[in-house]
Amino acid sequence: MKITFLGATKTVTGSNFLIEACGKKFLIDCGMWQGKVELEEQNAQDFEFNPKEIDFMLLTHAHIDHSGRIPKLYNEGFRNKIYAHKATCDLCALMLPDSGHIQEMENEWKNKKRMRRGEVEIPPLYTAEEAARSLEIFEPVQYDEIIEITQDIHVRFNDAGHMLGSSIIELWTKEEGEETKTVFTGDLGNNDIPLLDSPTMIESADYLIMESTYANRLHIKNEEKAELFLDIVSQTLDNGGSVVIPSFAVRKNTRNFI
Ligand SMILES: [Zn+2]
Repeated sequence: MKITFLGATKTVTGSNFLIEACGKKFLIDCGMWQGKVELEEQNAQDFEFNPKEIDFMLLTHAHIDHSGRIPKLYNEGFRNKIYAHKATCDLCALMLPDSGHIQEMENEWKNKKRMRRGEVEIPPLYTAEEAARSLEIFEPVQYDEIIEITQDIHVRFNDAGHMLGSSIIELWTKEEGEETKTVFTGDLGNNDIPLLDSPTMIESADYLIMESTYANRLHIKNEEKAELFLDIVSQTLDNGGSVVIPSFAVRKNTRNFI
């Protein structure tokens, strides 16, 4: 088995792994680069593989930094299945066309600037309509079921507790009579939080590919979080200030999903 790390390495976004095993080529995640301008410019670059040669894809969750280049993949000829949890498929049906809409809006603005500079207009990364078209290749799966992709490739999606549908993927590949188990955690949630279940405990793996965004810091204990939050709000109000609370949200036009 060969794994090529094409994104989310030394940075957080653009999650994309290419795996070659059992005579197949497949992807785990195909996310958008987000953040700095130089990073976002990478979205328009060619994939380091031929999308037409990819046999299937496994998607850990719907966040755009994991799913956002799927419509580009589709536009460039990828027509095989994308296995994802049912909730991930439902969320992608909202989020990918919305991402296409954002691409169109931003590109229109960039094209105006290009024209003022005497440069040619370029098309958006993908449109809302193209993103909607790519949804036809999604294949919904449930947690905890072993899925036979080929005789030698099996996978199981487990709850990662990070967002609705988020999955830790166990991958079993059998080559030359020997089975190897590789685990891709995708983004991981926390234990004992409201709204979401705790991440599933995976008991074994030969290889572990793990999200480590917050690996260099200690989280505050859950019971201390509310107290700390109230202290900050009270202190700020006592000082006559205003409190701005940023919130992670999955967005579809003006409606927010938490
Ligand atoms: Zn995420």
